[in-house]
Amino acid sequence: MTHKDVLVVGFGIAGSSLAHQLEQLGKSFDIVSNNSQQATRVAGGVLNPIVLKRYKKVWMAKEFYASAVKFYSSIETKLKTTFIQQPNLFKLLQSPQDCNDFISATERSYISNFLTSIKSPSHPHLSNAVIKLGEVNHIYTLDLNTYLDESMKYFNDSFYLDNFNYNKLKIGNSSVSYQSKSYQYVIFCEGYGVIDNPFFNHLPIYGNKGEYLIIHSKDLNSNQSIYKSKYFLIPLGNDLYKFGANYQRHELNNEPTEAIRLELSKAFETMFSVDYQIVDQLAGVRPTVKDRRPILGEHEKYSQLFIFNGNGSRGVLASPYLAENMVQHIFYKQPILDDVDIKRYVV
Ligand SMILES: Cc1cc2nc3c(=O)[nH]c(=O)nc-3n(C[C@H](O)[C@H](O)[C@H](O)COP(=O)(O)OP(=O)(O)OC[C@H]3O[C@@H](n4cnc5c(N)ncnc54)[C@H](O)[C@@H]3O)c2cc1C
Repeated sequence: MTHKDVLVVGFGIAGSSLAHQLEQLGKSFDIVSNNSQQATRVAGGVLNPIVLKRYKKVWMAKEFYASAVKFYSSIETKLKTTFIQQPNLFKLLQSPQDCNDFISATERSYISNFLTSIKSPSHPHLSNAVIKLGEVNHIYTLDLNTYLDESMKYFNDSFYLDNFNYNKLKIGNSSVSYQSKSYQYVIFCEGYGVIDNPFFNHLPIYGNKGEYLIIHSKDLNSNQSIYKSKYFLIPLGNDLYKFGANYQRHELNNEPTEAIRLELSKAFETMFSVDYQIVDQLAGVRPTVKDRRPILGEHEKYSQLFIFNGNGSRGVLASPYLAENMVQHIFYKQPILDDVDIKRYVV
């Protein structure tokens, strides 16, 4: 029976960043993943450490952002591909109060690195209700499908496109076996698919569905800029844009809905008056936790089983830092960040 250090279950942003970190440490591993969850593939892929509604830092903003920028740049080089863009981001300001709030936020520590100044709108098709644009710099967007597809190809020899069968996991004293292989550890990264995991489905991980419209418009002519009102308009290139996403706690599946299509198209039309076509609509389920912190750590009974989940609405930003924390914990006994440690849910 062949033996490897780790079996990674799930290849979204959590599992993939873990795999890259494991490789960097010279650890041997296999990956099993299906396509039942789509959060990473559907995500906006915006690396943004600021909550643009309230102009506050997201939790661990500085650490997550620095780690993410370094990680994704290094993966681009490693995979010899391109999936990072650095567009301008403009927050739409619709009242003098909006403008004052933005200007005062430009003076806050750390936030001042991103929020720069306000300027008059120059887009010919932007709604008249927008009086100024708040400019936000140093925001990146990732083409997550390219990132995942190229990562899968890179790990081809150790990647199995399959449903993980929990009944086939045999847990020994110091290792586990699955199919015909043995592993020292299994790390579960199934996103919202965790609800089917008998070892970890007692954790308070809930789904929060989000949908995007994919819009084609020649008139929009905004291939270098993100616009943010309630929703984001994110350029994809070739006159295509993502517009969304909403948050919804029911119908937790990957099926787009007519109701959200109407809601998003109405919101788009209040932002821009242009000719456009909806060419696609995407949906995915964010794995969110009651206390809004991810969950990392080992199973209370089986010390070979670990979880890395609950990445919520900022998983693309947070995963590189957390994946490193996870592997440093497993192999070098570094502590897991208190706020994300699974121990907070051990009774
Ligand atoms: C609409 C939307 C927009 C978002 N925008 C952003 C953003 O702009 N910036 C940001 O930082 N975050 C964003 N997020 C959040 C981010 O996408 C998630 O936090 C992140 O993708 C979760 O990653 P994950 O790897 O934990 O889960 P997933 O991406 O769901 O990956 C889990 C993987 O495990 C597989 N799997 C599950 N069960 C099994 C099984 N039994 N056997 C085998 N494989 C299995 C799944 O098929 C999937 O491949 C967004 C999310 C959504 C839905």
